[in-house]
Amino acid sequence: MPFSDVIGQEQIIRLLRNSLKCGRIAHAYLFAGPDGIGKTMVAKTLSQTLNCETGGWDACGRCPACRRIENFSHPDVTWVRPAGLSRQIGIDDIRRLRQQISLKPYQGRKKVYLITEADRMTAQASNALLKTLEEPPANSMLILITSHPASLFPTIISRCQMMRFSPLNPGRIEDYLVKKLNLSPNKARLLSRLSEGRLGKALSLQEEAVWEEREKILNLGNQISPQDDLEKLLKVAAQIVELVSDFRHELEERIKDELREVEAVVSKEQLKEMKEERMAFLAGESRRKVGEILDLMIGYYRDLLVLKEGGETINFDRMREMQQRAVSISSQGISKIIKAIEETKGFIERNVNLRLSLEAMTMKIAEELEYARGNSSQVARER
Ligand SMILES: [Zn+2]
Repeated sequence: MPFSDVIGQEQIIRLLRNSLKCGRIAHAYLFAGPDGIGKTMVAKTLSQTLNCETGGWDACGRCPACRRIENFSHPDVTWVRPAGLSRQIGIDDIRRLRQQISLKPYQGRKKVYLITEADRMTAQASNALLKTLEEPPANSMLILITSHPASLFPTIISRCQMMRFSPLNPGRIEDYLVKKLNLSPNKARLLSRLSEGRLGKALSLQEEAVWEEREKILNLGNQISPQDDLEKLLKVAAQIVELVSDFRHELEERIKDELREVEAVVSKEQLKEMKEERMAFLAGESRRKVGEILDLMIGYYRDLLVLKEGGETINFDRMREMQQRAVSISSQGISKIIKAIEETKGFIERNVNLRLSLEAMTMKIAEELEYARGNSSQVARER
């Protein structure tokens, strides 16, 4: 996608384009900001601009080089991601990068290495990368992408040009959704709140399938009730697991198709590396999916808190139902439920078994609801 089509992040784009025009582009950038805010998109566009066959100051988005970069299949634009059970970027990944980065580009003008979730680099990997950052080979660029910049070594940060991505004004997202996508003002307002200033997030939420899924997830969350038996709770957890595996399966099929397309034009070794990178991507995306599902649930419970304390809710399309639920549980109970869901998110980030974590979570929520019910009947008795 050309820079001219990117919505938001104007300041960053202006800086990058000016540096390109003046020939003062940095050897290493650090793109920092929350997920879904446009870091990967801008990184991709920068890689495209550097290798676009039209040779202008912006990517055309249509030439073979731009298209290959879009599909993650350009031999000079390499993605490095955390992999394995520990979800880390290890010393071997950086060694491989160091070996390859000094070679001449195969097809393009510039070799670009994009390290996503750069905060997942081990200490050894970070130290190895420092050497490359100190003596960057000509015709190469490194882009580190992270939503947790504070977890990076200060020495790494100081050798990169940092670009902080900031959320968009919700009004702008609303406006975009109404004008460009013809959404109703009500739906646009809801999406802009749910996305918290992240256009990428709003766009993925607006797809019909995702919308239906939101309904499904919130309904599933509502199925957890105080008098639940174990079997029913396990079923709720199983249904969330099913959502994630459906998502994973679909993405896996798409990746297989992508790889089949490039099979003929890349070497065996390159294909193997691409496969590994795509599988790490798949694992990362599946984990992100779980995070999204749990975020929806957290957002819902936060709204219950907001309702109790008087403020603007996010899920205002479910106002009546939320008002009913809010009276049956204390603020403290809701906070405990939010904490339980947040803990589950942390477990999954650390690769704890998905099903077991979700089962424990649903039980914890039911327990809190049960406790709340006991309390409210006690209150009633005291009266
Ligand atoms: Zn192009």
